[in-house]
Parts: sequence; structure tokens; C-alpha cells
Amino acid sequence: MTLLAPLSGIVVPLDQVPDPAFAQRLAGDGLALEPLDQRVVAPCDARVLHVHRAGHALTLSASGLEILIHVGLDTVNLNGKGFDPQVKAGDEVRAGDLLLTFDADYIATHARSLLTPVLVTNMERVLAIQSGAPAPSQRARGRRVTAGRDVLLDVRLAAGGPEPSTPSQGERVESAPIAIASGTGLHARPAATVAAAARRFTSEVRLLKGDREANARSVVSIMTLEVIGGDTVTVVARGSDAGAAVAAIVQVLRAGAVPPGGAKSAAAAPAAARAAPRPPMTQASGLLKGVPASPGVAIGRVFQLRHDDEVLQERSADPSHERRALDAAIAAAHLQLEALQARLATEADADRVAIFAAHQELLEDPEVLDPAAEHIQAGATAGYAWRQAYMGQAERLLELRSELLAGRAADLRDVGRRVLHLLVGRDGVSHDVPADSIVVAEDLAPSDAASLDRTLVRGFCTTMGSATSHVAILARGLGIPAVAGIDPRVLDLPAGTRVVLDGDAGTLQRDPSAAEEAEIVRRQESSARRRTAELAVAAEPAVTRDGHRVEIVANIGDVDEARRVPEVGGEGVGLLRTEFLFMERRTAPTEDEQAAVYEAIARALGPERILVIRALDVGGDKPLPYLPMAAEANPFLGERGIRLLLNRPEIFASQVRAILRASRVGKVAIMFPMISTIAEWRAARDVVERERLALEAPALPVGIMIETASAALLADRFAREADFFSIGTNDLTQYTLAMDRTNPRLAPQVDALHPSVLRLIERAVAGAHAHRRWVGVCGALAGDPQAVPVLVGLGVDELSVSVPLVPALKAQVRALSLAECRATAELALDAADGAEVRALVAGRHPDGPS
Ligand code: PEP
Ligand code: MG
Repeated sequence: MTLLAPLSGIVVPLDQVPDPAFAQRLAGDGLALEPLDQRVVAPCDARVLHVHRAGHALTLSASGLEILIHVGLDTVNLNGKGFDPQVKAGDEVRAGDLLLTFDADYIATHARSLLTPVLVTNMERVLAIQSGAPAPSQRARGRRVTAGRDVLLDVRLAAGGPEPSTPSQGERVESAPIAIASGTGLHARPAATVAAAARRFTSEVRLLKGDREANARSVVSIMTLEVIGGDTVTVVARGSDAGAAVAAIVQVLRAGAVPPGGAKSAAAAPAAARAAPRPPMTQASGLLKGVPASPGVAIGRVFQLRHDDEVLQERSADPSHERRALDAAIAAAHLQLEALQARLATEADADRVAIFAAHQELLEDPEVLDPAAEHIQAGATAGYAWRQAYMGQAERLLELRSELLAGRAADLRDVGRRVLHLLVGRDGVSHDVPADSIVVAEDLAPSDAASLDRTLVRGFCTTMGSATSHVAILARGLGIPAVAGIDPRVLDLPAGTRVVLDGDAGTLQRDPSAAEEAEIVRRQESSARRRTAELAVAAEPAVTRDGHRVEIVANIGDVDEARRVPEVGGEGVGLLRTEFLFMERRTAPTEDEQAAVYEAIARALGPERILVIRALDVGGDKPLPYLPMAAEANPFLGERGIRLLLNRPEIFASQVRAILRASRVGKVAIMFPMISTIAEWRAARDVVERERLALEAPALPVGIMIETASAALLADRFAREADFFSIGTNDLTQYTLAMDRTNPRLAPQVDALHPSVLRLIERAVAGAHAHRRWVGVCGALAGDPQAVPVLVGLGVDELSVSVPLVPALKAQVRALSLAECRATAELALDAADGAEVRALVAGRHPDGPS
């Protein structure tokens, strides 16, 4: 029988493999390959016996032979990362069929070696095995083989079929239960050691795990038992040397075993904790670091926001309506998952593609669907029924205490939440947040803000995101401190833990001392006094000491925020982010729905305050479930903002009509996001003009956001045609510095005060003023106290910030002098980096808010 090379690579004899289990042929005989490719194919027609849960090893059966292909050494420790099996146990494959793909770069940098042993594990069936080198002179080492084409091994089978089974008569000896300590369990290497030990005896030896059992002489059989750390096994032998066999195997297993019950099951740990083992957080090191996302300091108790805790309406009178709603939500979840997989496939992120493909399978699992249907039939709402069903099944999986199934439970909860969100939308859930909560989560979506009682939340803390991500925008809108991109150990903090969240320093401190708390309370009281004083004069304009007026307006996302604008002295709205209206829904809002919201916002502001409505800014990293989009390798550079709108004329036109309708109620302007070319601007402007004429609506100012270097550099050209500019420093910074604004690892460096960004702002202002257009800044930089003198000095006419920041910003501007700001800006443009700009501002404007 011939076995083809399962991998393209260089042949290496087994005794040169730096691993005793393989080198000493404990696991079986064969060869190893140094891979030159990332695909493993079947070496012959075979049946797949087993694919290891870590994806790194698989066994095949062909003509009575058991063949093990083990990619890399110690790769079981990668827990599946870097491997993407293409087959499952029981599959029939033909020689050359793809079995597994792997990420050679990842494995090479995360495991001991890429050397891949290819072995026959049941050598009792083999008479002779030799390298399939074409000429005897060619030594095994160094031969290069191509997967599925060249012969790797020639195997001569022993005559007479399988060895007669070992005698099963005689004494039966059974060991006490043995707990397996190693987290990775009995994977290939330990299985080989056990099998080698078992083969030294004539007795039949079996390993029992629960109601499953394995032949201890067979590496493959042991592997298929899927013994992981924390599992308990028993050794049973029958035969003349049964006692000695059991004692020997127990000894092998005990190398690393602990008494039953002493080993902690990985299954009990939460998914996030399992993914990356983290050092425990001690009292002494109780400070976790992230990036400042919204200013202020708060003391409170940890509230871990897990979406499974949401309060849902329980009963419904119309089961068939609920059933339809559930079906629609599941169908929408399928669509989302498909779009996600398509995108990840273009990013060659096979791991995550596989995860989301598995999520799709879970959506079809009768163990979840059937109970959900039963709950609905019994009078539950779709949301309630669905959650009962998926949570119930997840708990059952966890009870089985298998790491594999625990992972599946985590996946089930994840996909379950996806459906739940689609089902109940942004208004259908609320969280039972206790008073004084510091909300801790991996990420926060706009719908989370809607579902939290804002009066009870003291701060936000997320492991994802950066100073410009949505959670930051959300927190600044609420005027509460936030830290983003924080150490993920925060997710392990028990609910109720007392913590200090410092939104200025970007830290979270657990269990503060009484003295620390007192100091924070003192700081809070003094800033509350300052806020009261600022609020008292908030209605006054922001005019510098030397008579230069700066418009101070607000960034908002909904009607509630609009109502607060006049109260805090906001002179209008510089940015209405309309995407909040579009997200977390199953269908796009209709023109009427949108018009109602825009009109309500315009009314809340009154006829004198400007309302700049930004056209929908989604796409790329923010997909909408009802907008299927082509997969993109670089979504931030893809069909985002205006590009998406121009490609979806129905959505764009209906939003434009709704905005035009609202322009009859207030002082409305329309603005396009993510403009980079004159052609985009003109196409968008033409849509507005066409709809305006059709509606016979009055003319309104039409402007663009400056978020790309192209728009900034061409500002003078745009200013000939556009009525105004608003600089989106969040995007302008990420595109200028080529640093993803959502990447927590880059967060400390994504500083919008970088001179490269400032030079683009300078250019945009010059271009606008040359044509008597006004220019505002609506990115987070506008609310950064250290940036204010620089932006004023650069000649920016308007600053648009989150609602709670308006009074303080006005107070800050009143204390400045335009002449000094101009000098500061001049120096800032010449600085080397953001840190140098900050140092400069701190030196020249020492009295400004820190
Ligand atoms: C910006 O990019 O600065 C901006 C204001 O838009 P958003 O943060 O919504 O992308
Ligand atoms: Mg933007």
C-alpha cells in the first residue's frame, strides 16, 4: 500500500524529530515533513476516524491501517487557533482530498515546531514500512515531496489480517478513578506513551471515561476518547498480567495526575477567560489600564453587562405573530453571519469564518428551535421563548463539563444574543442595573445605551474601542466617565466589586482605600461646583478676551439629547449622527419615521439654532442587517458613508426627503460623510437638489465632512461649491496616521493633535475661508481641552461637542485670547508629534482645564 505525501514539504526521518514520543516511535512508525504549504490532504482513500478538538491532528483508517497526521509539535496547546479542519470523523475521503488547512506563520511563531509526523499507529498490522523515495540512493532526509502526488511511504501489510485479539480471560483488575491534570489531556503524545506502556503486556487493557471506552494499546482509540484536563478515567485490564498492566498505566497517567475533584474543569470558566489565560489580578496590582474615552472620575460597583441579563416582556397573546417574528429574526441573523463570513474570508481570517459558519449551524439546531417553538405555543413572546431555549441548551452543554462543549455553549449564547437583538431591537430590552454602576462590557452598542437606566450608571468601561469609538461618543453624550480598550481582566471582576473609574487617566482601580475614595469625592465635589458656575453663564456666547467669537454647538444622536442642547447653552447642533436611527433594526426606517424624528429634533432646538443633519454614515465596519454588502478586504477603505449612499439611491433619496421635510420646521443643513472626491460631492448634492425641487422645499445649506486627506487637501476646490465644512477628526486622524480608530492596541497613539492632522485642518480652514465658507470641527478633538486653543488658533469657526461639554467649552474659550491661540497653533504645526503639541499647550495655556 502506498501513502502519498499529505503535505508538500521536505522529508525528515522520525528519529530527527525533537520529541521522544515520535522519535522513539512510541506513537507509531513513518516519517515527518517540514511543511512548505498550508494544506493537508488525504494520503490514500480512507475513512476519517477522528479529528482532534484542537484541529492539529487527525487519524484515518485505510485497509486496516490507522494513520496519524500530526501538524507541528506541541500544537495541541494552540487550542485550535491556526487550524481549520475540513473534515469530520466518519467522513470518507479520496486520496488528495483536502483534510485540513493551517496557518503556518501563526503556528511557526506560536508552537515549538512545524515538523509534521505522518505515522502508522497500529504497527502490528505492518510487515515493513519504508520511505517512498523514487531511487534507493536518495536518502529520506531532504527529499522534497508534493502533496497528493509523490509517494511518502510504502507499507507492506502483515499477512493474515488483524492480530488475534489479546486474551480476555483471566483476572480482571480495575484501577481507582484517575483525574487527568494536563489541560490538553490525552492528545497524541501522551496517548502514545500510554499505548506503548499497554503494549508491553499481554492483557487486554482499556481506558474508561464515563460510558465510553478505548483500547489502551491504540493511540487512535485513546485519542478518540477525547480525554481533557479535569476528566476522570479508569484503567481496566483482563489477562494474566492484568495487575501489572494496570499499575504501569496508572503510573504513566499519574505523571501529572491529581486526585479526582482536585482538577478544575475548564468548562466552568467563562469563554473570555478561557480564550487567553490571564494572571490573576491581585489586590496589589488592582489597577487596570485602558485609554481615556470620556472625562471624569466615578466610584461605583462593577456591573458586568452580559446581554443575557436583559429584562424581556414575557407573555404574548398571539403565538403566530411571535413565531413569524422569530423566523424573521433567525433569517436576518443568517444574513448577517453570511456577510460576516464573506468579509472575513477576504481577510483570510479562516478561524473566524469557521466560528461564524458554526453559528449558522446552531441556528438550525432542533435542540434550540423546538423548545423555542414550544414556549411560543405556550404563550411566551418570541424574545422570551428564544432566550429560554438557547440559554437552557447552553446550560445543558456546560453541565457536560467538556471544554469542547463549553466552547459550543459560548457560541450558542453568542449567536442566541444576535437573534435576540434582531428580535427585540433597540427598544425591546432593558437591563436591571443597580444604582451606582460602572458598566463593564466587551463592547457597547448604541442599543445598550437605550436599554440602560442612565440615572443609575456612573461610568462605562469596555475592553474594545478607543477614544473615538462609539462607547466614547455615548459616554461623552451622557457626561459620564468612560475608559475603552481596557485590560480584558476587567471581565473577570465579580459583579458588585467596588472600583474607581478614571476617565481622564484611562484606568480602573479595584477596591479603593477609604483615603482614595475621600480624595475622589473631593475632586468630584469641586468639579460639580465648577460645572454649576459654568452652567449659570452657559447661555452667554463664547467670545475670547480679545473679542473673537467661536460658535459652540453640540453633537447629538436623538431627540432626548436635542432637548438638552438649549439647556446647556448650545448654539445649535453641529452633527446629528443619523445612523443611530438605522442601526439595531431589521428594516430601514421609512421616510415618514425619519421625518418625524428630524422634525422633533428641529422643534426641540427652536427656529434660531442650526441643525446639521449628517446623511447616514454606515458601511464598512458598521454593517446594517437589511443592507447586504459585498465582502471587503479593508472595510474602512471601502463602501462607507457617502459611497454607500450613492450606491443605494433609494435609501439616500428617502433620507434626503425626510431631511428636506424637517427643513420646513427649523434651521436645517445637510452634510455628507466620508467625502473624498469632487465627483462624490457633486453626485450627492445633485440628489439633494433633485429631491428638493420635487418637494418644492426651500433651499438649505449643503456641506461636507472633511474626514479624508483628499477632502482636506482639496478644500479650496470643494469650497467653491459646498456651503460649509465640518472636520471629522476621528476619521481624519485614522486615515492620516493609518491607524484604525477601533484598534485598542493603537489607541494610545491615535492622537488627533498630531501635527500631520493639524496641518490638514489648517489647509481645510484656509480653503473654506478663501471662499467665505464656515468650518467647524465635530470630531472628538473639539471637546479635548488641550486642543481647544490650537483649533481656535487655526481659525476654526465652530466647535461641536457632546452636550454635557458645552458649558465648560464656552468657559474655556472665554478665557483665551485669539492672538495667543494663533501663536500656539503656529508652534503646534511645527511640532514633531502629538505629545510635543500637548506639552506645548500645557506650557503656554497653564490655566486651561487639565
Ligand atoms: C469623525 O469622524 O470625526 C466624526 C465626527 O464622525 P464619526 O465619529 O461619526 O465617524
Ligand atoms: Mg467620521
